[in-house]
Amino acid sequence: MAINYQLILDSICDEVKGLLSKGKVASYIPQLSAVSPLQFGIAAYCLDGRVFTAGDAQKKFSVQSITKLFALALAFAREGDKIWSRVGREPSGNPFNSLSQLEYEYGIPRNPFINAGALVIHDILAARFVQADIALLQFIRMLARQPALDFDKAVALSEHQTAHRNYAIAHLMKDFGNLHNPVETIIEGYCRQCSITMNCIELARAASFLANHGSIPWDGTRILDASSSKRLNALMLTCGTYDAAGDFAYRVGLPAKSGVGGGIVALVPGELAIAVWSPGLDATGNSLAGVMALERFTTLTARSIF
Ligand code: GLN
Repeated sequence: MAINYQLILDSICDEVKGLLSKGKVASYIPQLSAVSPLQFGIAAYCLDGRVFTAGDAQKKFSVQSITKLFALALAFAREGDKIWSRVGREPSGNPFNSLSQLEYEYGIPRNPFINAGALVIHDILAARFVQADIALLQFIRMLARQPALDFDKAVALSEHQTAHRNYAIAHLMKDFGNLHNPVETIIEGYCRQCSITMNCIELARAASFLANHGSIPWDGTRILDASSSKRLNALMLTCGTYDAAGDFAYRVGLPAKSGVGGGIVALVPGELAIAVWSPGLDATGNSLAGVMALERFTTLTARSIF
């Protein structure tokens, strides 16, 4: 029976209000620090096309690292298992922008969801498309069914001007031979990739193919075969929320991907994709109220992949 999630989303929206002032907005990208933390949105996109929303679900935000999910899907769809010779599939246990592991692991990032891994994926896309960032934007527009999605140029510039760590990561990988394009090209494209803005509804819809065995729910277009889709779900569970993935699996129990803009998209395989946004982050860089909202969602609905 099709469940009506409206009351649940409304009550979650109410419950998390007290948490909004407790998180810290990301400040290492100056443009993101200007966003008010007192915002919260949630949207569930069901595979049968129903959409439930509450709070600031229509408000655009910087999706940041969540684009790593779509970039991986595009690279995996085009290149298949070849990508795994350049990036691993293990949780890093380190912050998403850490450099330390890369040095003793010979420039092979632990997984595609930390910055190093996302830079390698961007490099793979750059070898395949004239402009990787544009190809990715078009891919996400198609997945979100929203041709108006775009980069936020101010956010991209702001990140580029302060991208010292990402430059360091890219140079280290270049030295190890795991970055084929010029460092500058990849950092610039990656900053633009991260600056894409979406709202919760668009984000949930864009990720819904991953809850639907790899095909777009409304027209059946296959993005990934079922096995590859299952594998991306596994990576989301183990690596999608930085070094808090274990705690997230414990508390929420769904595959998910987060970003420092305060967004998180999670999947209930076979049923729906759900996106939350609240800019205040916890110490691991995940949205404080967003994680709590998803924890409440799976608790109130008894949903979990376990
Ligand atoms: N653009 C951000 C960075 O590279 C993305 C990080 C994130 O969302 N975790 O630092």
